[in-house]
Amino acid sequence: MCLFCNIIAGTIPCNKVLEDENFLAFHDIYPKAPIHILIIPKIHVDCFQNTTPETMIGLTKFTQEVAKKVGVDVTGYRLITNNGDDGGQEIYHLHFHMLGGGKLRWDTLHEDSHKSL
Ligand code: AMP
Repeated sequence: MCLFCNIIAGTIPCNKVLEDENFLAFHDIYPKAPIHILIIPKIHVDCFQNTTPETMIGLTKFTQEVAKKVGVDVTGYRLITNNGDDGGQEIYHLHFHMLGGGKLRWDTLHEDSHKSL
């Protein structure tokens, strides 16, 4: 069972923000912004590339509810999903990072971006 499946099962604790039948949101253990929440489907799928439109429909509504709950629905936030090796994905259970709580930077992300690609 993967780490996030263990969190869903309750065998590993999390700092929960919101939960419903199909989704769970909890605070990232190493926050990269004042608000850094992970939003995951309870069904195990390894990454965005392999998810379904049906899951994303539910996840959209749930994500909007999370934003309201933590008060960033008006101030703004960033949603990121790291997909696969080049995307920097470390945990292979689909998750979206919700980042907010202050102005976010938008820096160069590619390690060779100073070179022409
Ligand atoms: P990614 O690199 O997109 O796969 O992101 C994985 C995220 O999971 C990272 O931001 C980690 O800080 C976070 N993380 C790892 N273990 C835990 C945990 N037990 N509880 C909450 N967040 C975690």
